[in-house]
Amino acid sequence: MTGPSPVVAGPEAGGGPLLEASGLTKHFPVGGTRFAARGVVHAVDDVSLRIARGAITAIVGESGSGKSTLAKLLARLIKPTGGSLALDGKAIAARSRAGRRYARQVQLVLQDPFASLNPIHDVRYHLVRPLKLHGIPGSGGPDGENNVARGPRPRAVLDQAVEDLLSRVALTPPEAFAAKYPHELSGGQRQRVAIARALAVAPAILLADEPVSMLDVSIRLGVLNLLADLRERDGLAIVYVTHDIASARYLADTIAVMYAGRIVETGPAAALTDQPAHPYTQLLLSAAPDPDRAQRPSLRGKGAPPNLATPPPGCRFHPRCPHAMRICAETVPTLTETGAGQASACWLHASGLSGAERAPLKIADLRAASEPPPPYPDDAAEPGKEA
Ligand code: ADP
Ligand code: MG
Repeated sequence: MTGPSPVVAGPEAGGGPLLEASGLTKHFPVGGTRFAARGVVHAVDDVSLRIARGAITAIVGESGSGKSTLAKLLARLIKPTGGSLALDGKAIAARSRAGRRYARQVQLVLQDPFASLNPIHDVRYHLVRPLKLHGIPGSGGPDGENNVARGPRPRAVLDQAVEDLLSRVALTPPEAFAAKYPHELSGGQRQRVAIARALAVAPAILLADEPVSMLDVSIRLGVLNLLADLRERDGLAIVYVTHDIASARYLADTIAVMYAGRIVETGPAAALTDQPAHPYTQLLLSAAPDPDRAQRPSLRGKGAPPNLATPPPGCRFHPRCPHAMRICAETVPTLTETGAGQASACWLHASGLSGAERAPLKIADLRAASEPPPPYPDDAAEPGKEA
């Protein structure tokens, strides 16, 4: 049985969610031959999300939890194994006109600002390309379909559009930055150019995949504040993907916590981080310093995320969970509301379980579910070393 997956419901203005994902799933075939894979990596499983207009939604999880795969699915850069997307209430079919509109409306900014810009071209070139391809946004507003004019443009108009973009990402004076090459820019400045390039097509949603994790700590806050400004000033909806729950709390309105390819908890950023309901969220928070937080959850978890080629049955967190019950090892948890707008996919919060279902899992059961990889021969030979 598969329970309904949690749905992120951000603060919603009229007209429903801007972007809605239903049951998104991505299984990567691995091993074997081109025609017959030996197995699949369950990178993203049955993820449903609602991205609100003009809000920042954070997707938080450890490395390998499927965040980047989810971001690529949302950007339609990879084909889902299952599930569907709807932008502005309209379902998106493959290779349709709606698909082309989608590609403009939903822009992805990647983690590595050093790899995302072409070293042989200046900043102006990077920004002029999308402006020429998609047309120049007339008003700069995020809802661009009507104010975008396509076709050849005189250089002065393009220059003005480039300078406007650079000003929006606070690269000033813009004329100076337009003429610079990537090697003349810092990591933070490159990431701002990458964001400006995404903004050039007047998207409705910016997907930012770990946009600051490769930057120096000292300049991260500036880039995060830029994202906050873009939401505040321009009403841009932003999906902020991060492994750092403290920065998600700082920046986001809504947080969705991912574990091993599934969303395990969602809710308003402050409530979710003050009162985490899912043991995994509690574990993440116990590892993250945050002076703002009212009380520090005390849970200490052990172990590591599972191998996604052989994810544990039931709740994927159960081998690490100090509260694991019989049912957790058998059935994927159904979504339960734990507070206003907050929901957790955890059996602890479900009602109506039988005594047998609630029976604590024995340590031996947990060991079996989280079989560690075989030790290296050297390790095994080392005397007196206890795992
Ligand atoms: P995150 O961004 O949270 O670190 P990813 O989405 O990059 O996680 O990866 C999730 C899982 O999917 C990982 O186990 C990763 O090894 C696997 N994965 C990602 N891309 C591929 C691919 N192209 N082929 C096979 N496995 C992949
Ligand atoms: Mg990633």
